[in-house]
Amino acid sequence: MSEKDLTEVQQQDAAYAGLAEELAKDAAVPEALKVLAEDARVTVRRGGAPARGKAVVYWMQRAQRGRDNHALDKAVDVANALGLPCVVYFACISNFKSANLRHYAFMNEGLRDVEEECKARGVGFVMRRPPDEDHLRFFADVDAAMVIGDENPMRAPEQWRKHVAEKLKIPFWTVDADVVVPSKLLEKAQFSAAVARPRLYRALPEFLVPYANPNAQHEWKKPRGLLTDDPKLDITRGWVDFDRSVEPVAAWKGGHHAAVKRLKVFIAKMLESYDRDRNKPETDGTSKMSPYLHFGNISTMTILLAVDEAVEQAVGAEKAHLQAARDSFVNEIVTWRELAVNFVRYQPEYDSPKCADNWARETIREHDLDARERMYSLKVLEAGHTYDDLWNAAQRQMVDYGWMHNYMRMYWAKKIVEWTPNVSVAMKVAIHLNDKYELDGRDPNGYAGIAWSMLGKFDRAWFDRPVFGKRRYMSGASTGKKFDSGAYVRRWGGSQGLF
Ligand SMILES: Cc1cc2nc3c(=O)[nH]c(=O)nc-3n(C[C@H](O)[C@H](O)[C@H](O)COP(=O)(O)OP(=O)(O)OC[C@H]3O[C@@H](n4cnc5c(N)ncnc54)[C@H](O)[C@@H]3O)c2cc1C
Repeated sequence: MSEKDLTEVQQQDAAYAGLAEELAKDAAVPEALKVLAEDARVTVRRGGAPARGKAVVYWMQRAQRGRDNHALDKAVDVANALGLPCVVYFACISNFKSANLRHYAFMNEGLRDVEEECKARGVGFVMRRPPDEDHLRFFADVDAAMVIGDENPMRAPEQWRKHVAEKLKIPFWTVDADVVVPSKLLEKAQFSAAVARPRLYRALPEFLVPYANPNAQHEWKKPRGLLTDDPKLDITRGWVDFDRSVEPVAAWKGGHHAAVKRLKVFIAKMLESYDRDRNKPETDGTSKMSPYLHFGNISTMTILLAVDEAVEQAVGAEKAHLQAARDSFVNEIVTWRELAVNFVRYQPEYDSPKCADNWARETIREHDLDARERMYSLKVLEAGHTYDDLWNAAQRQMVDYGWMHNYMRMYWAKKIVEWTPNVSVAMKVAIHLNDKYELDGRDPNGYAGIAWSMLGKFDRAWFDRPVFGKRRYMSGASTGKKFDSGAYVRRWGGSQGLF
């Protein structure tokens, strides 16, 4: 393929590969660093030799955890190789798009665990809030020798990393700590789960290996007078233009400790029947790891290694059950999750109908303006006041509990297509509600799930019908028969009497 046939992201990947090659040849770069850069998880965004600084900084964005974190491990390894201390920097901005008090409260709890875990490894942790959160200022304040970041394929965080790479005068590498198989290795947009699955599974033995979790050899000591904030306090205090309309959910506690606690419950009680129960929204049958994964409080690898250990220790019939459940779980947490990351990474229009495949575009063009039997305003949808008790219950689960069951998410999104004037409006409504209320919202999985439900992304053509055209349809009657929908509606509350 010639240079001009490459997409913008592929050109960027090629440019970063070029920087890595230059680094490998750069006589000024210590050999130990060259070896550390030869890791498929590393992207060299700014090359060259480290400055004569006083610390190596890990600028933490997505992977908000102080253990089992490849980016932190790399920063510690680099710091140890340079004989420097390592400090984690977290810039707590107040205006992350669609994030509100519910999300910030969860993140706040997680940051306390990060601080504690970093301390145990001899690594510093500094959080700053507006108006003091400027990254470049922090790197200068601690006299950084080089900066390590993590990866997040979403538009805004990727722009921030590009901006930092342009402005920095010291080396800047990022480490893909979010997925099992480094996302750049898939090289291009994957057409379907069937295409991505074998590539991902083939790479698992190479990448699914326990973390090293090295300790810092030179403990970081906070320089006198360095400006830091305290994650033990409310990180939103004093913010005036901040959305407090969505309250935290008492049932959810953020952070690595809470994630590990829930993971243990899942493995002990639910894993064995995961393959049979994962489509039963009335039961607590799935891992509920998604909010923790979204905030990086736990990694997919930590989860998978624990699941594999449980399978390993089982015997007889239990082992066979667990193996089948494990395979079903891996299909979700590896295939579908990493496909979502690939989708957002390589598809710039991930949140618009423009990302639909050709067959779907055609059927959307034919049916997008078909007459709808019912239409609801955003206000009615948000309040869960439609005629459909099952849908209302799903909406309430999301609003009240901050998390909706996967099976209901598909139904929920598809109904919005039926109840809004066209798919463009439908996507905007779904993204708005999903990102506002779900603790795991604003995530590649959300954009992929909405595109799957509303645009047939990663799906195939079905029978032609009004409004949906050839996109897969889910009717209330048949969906409601596939599980104990009565129990689900009783649990989350159905219609509020307004039709
Ligand atoms: C319309 C729609 C919107 C969605 N919005 C989000 C969202 O905002 N954030 C989010 O994390 N997920 C979203 N999903 C995907 C999925 O519904 C959730 O990840 C899952 O329900 C989380 O519950 P769990 O952790 O118990 O999943 P489990 O069944 O225990 O699976 C374990 C992990 O695998 C991954 N996973 C499971 N199902 C999917 C899937 N269909 N696609 C991608 N990854 C998956 C998740 O990381 C999940 O935590 C959406 C799906 C749809 C159809």
